[in-house]
Amino acid sequence: AVDVLTFGESMGSFRHAGLLRMGGSAQLCLAGAESNVAIGLSRLGHTTRWAGRLGQDEIGAFALRQLRAEGVLTDAVSHDEHRPTGLMLLEQRTADLARVQYYRAGSAGAALTIDLVRPAIAAGARILHLTGITPALSASAAEAVLWAARAARDAGILVSFDVNFRAKLWTAEQAAETLPAIAACADVVIASEDELALAVPEAHDGEVAAAAALADKGVGQVIIKRGADGATGWIDGQPRHVAAHKVVVRDTVGAGDAFTAGYLSGLLDGLDVQARLERGAILGAFAVGYPGDWEALPTRAELRLWEQQAGTTVR
Ligand code: ATP
Repeated sequence: AVDVLTFGESMGSFRHAGLLRMGGSAQLCLAGAESNVAIGLSRLGHTTRWAGRLGQDEIGAFALRQLRAEGVLTDAVSHDEHRPTGLMLLEQRTADLARVQYYRAGSAGAALTIDLVRPAIAAGARILHLTGITPALSASAAEAVLWAARAARDAGILVSFDVNFRAKLWTAEQAAETLPAIAACADVVIASEDELALAVPEAHDGEVAAAAALADKGVGQVIIKRGADGATGWIDGQPRHVAAHKVVVRDTVGAGDAFTAGYLSGLLDGLDVQARLERGAILGAFAVGYPGDWEALPTRAELRLWEQQAGTTVR
C-alpha cells in the first residue's frame, strides 16, 4: 500500500504572466489540486498514487509525464478515448492575485466513476486525500468521492478532505448539499474560514462552533488556512496556531495544496500537531515564493533550507 492515495482532475494550465487579451506566450504547466498534493508528498519521499482520468491527447500525455517525473504512481490512471483532458488558463494579474478560466466541462477528468477508483482503494493506502473540487465536476465524480470516503473509512484508511470550494464549478448551495456527507467521513478536514460552513451547514456562527460540530461527527483534526496569517489546527477542540513565514510573494496559487502536503507528511512521519502545522507552513512558503503551483516544493533535504537566515546563499 502507498502512503497517500488521491484522485481528482488534473489539467493542462496555460499560465500567462499578464493579460491573455494582450496575446503573447503562455507556459504549459500541470494543474490539479490533488496532483499538487501528491507531488508535494512525493518530493518529501512519501509514496503516492494519483488516480484520475485523462484524455488520449497531448495534454493528457503531458500530465502523465509530469506525474511520473515527480515519482507519483500512475498505474490507476484511466484513459478516455472520447473526451479531452481539461484545460485552464491562468492570468497572473499581480503577485498575489490570479484569475483562472476553465475549459473542463465534459472533460475526461469529469468522467470519473466509482468503478474507476475502486481498484486504487482496494490497493490500499495509509491516507486517502480528497477535495471538494472533484464532486463539483459531475454527478458520477461526486458519487465516486463519497463512495471512496466511505470505503476508506470502513477499511481503516485515514481520510483527509480539503473543502476547496470552486465558485466557477458550482454554487455554494450545491456544495453545501454535497460536501457535509464527505466531511463526515474524514479524519482531517482542511478549509479556509469562509469555506467551513459548506462542510458543516449546521454551524453558521464561526470557526469554534464549526470545529466543534465536525469533532462531534468524528473529525479529529480541523485545519483552517489563513493565507499570510498562517493556519490553525483544531485538535480535539483545542486550537493550535502556526504563523506564516515572511516571504516575498511571487504567486499564491497552490499555497493551500502545498500546506496540505506538508501537514499530511507530518502526519505520516508521526509528528505532533505543532510540527505538522509547521511543515505545512514551510511548504506554503515555498509555494508562494516562486511562480507555479507546485514546481518549487521542497525535497526532504530542502526542508532545512528554512532554518537559514533570509538573504543566505547556501554554498
Ligand atoms: P490557494 O487556494 O491559493 O492554494 P488556500 O486559500 O487554500 O490557497 P492559504 O491559506 O492561502 O491557502 O495558504 C496556505 C498556507 O500557505 C498558509 O497557511 C501559509 O502558511 C502559507 N501562505 C499562504 N500565503 C502566504 C503568504 N502570503 N506568505 C507566506 N505564507 C503564505
